[in-house]
Amino acid sequence: MVQLSKEIVKETLLDKAEMSDAHCHLELFKHPLEIIEKAREEGVGIIITAGGTVEGNMGAVEMTNYDGVFATIGIDPSAIEDEDRIDDIEMQIRANPKIIGIGEIGLDVKYLDKYNLELQKGIFRRQIKIAEELGIPVVVHARGMMKHVVDIVRESSGVRFMMHFFDGTLEEAQKLAGMGHLISIPPRLTSNRKKIIKHLDIGNIVVETDSPVAGHSPSDVKETLELISKIKGIGFYDVASMVTGNLKRFFYI
Ligand SMILES: [Zn+2]
Repeated sequence: MVQLSKEIVKETLLDKAEMSDAHCHLELFKHPLEIIEKAREEGVGIIITAGGTVEGNMGAVEMTNYDGVFATIGIDPSAIEDEDRIDDIEMQIRANPKIIGIGEIGLDVKYLDKYNLELQKGIFRRQIKIAEELGIPVVVHARGMMKHVVDIVRESSGVRFMMHFFDGTLEEAQKLAGMGHLISIPPRLTSNRKKIIKHLDIGNIVVETDSPVAGHSPSDVKETLELISKIKGIGFYDVASMVTGNLKRFFYI
């Protein structure tokens, strides 16, 4: 009988760990292909790259030519002057199966001077309606606006939401998770986020890098997954598989 040492088992499993980055901006890298290849070598097989502006959407869609890369497009709170492009966005999504969601879209306290709350809410709701018609999820950007976002999510019961770069409270995370939505954990792990990881069901967790804005590259998800593994006391391979499974089921990929 062959005796398999624990180290060998561990190494074999780690080799096969299937990691995923739920949100980044590949088009902002100077050499995106190198970034994608490096991530894949390290086990990050699925990357979702997000638009949010007219230019960002174009870049994100271009990235879907690469295997394992999917895109979300939309008009975020910084780009509301481009709201007349929302119809184009709908047509693009219908034509390209690798555009798997609308995002990032939402509300942002930073742009309130320029675009008031009602205006931001209106553009957000209009795009949620398209997601509902198309049967695809929404990737939410919610800087400093979690309460308003939770209200809008609650009124949109036919739509699935992924909360990108979640910075709400544990209570808000649990409320959203209870409605079947996903909480995306970024690389900056504050004590609040560690608390959320500890208490939130793993079935509602995905990980993201928001690179190059926050993380260095999609490969950074490994550190977050290691921490989730440690906090929850679940093996790294299992955590990676479960979190990637959550993402695949949510986006139908
Ligand atoms: Zn982002």
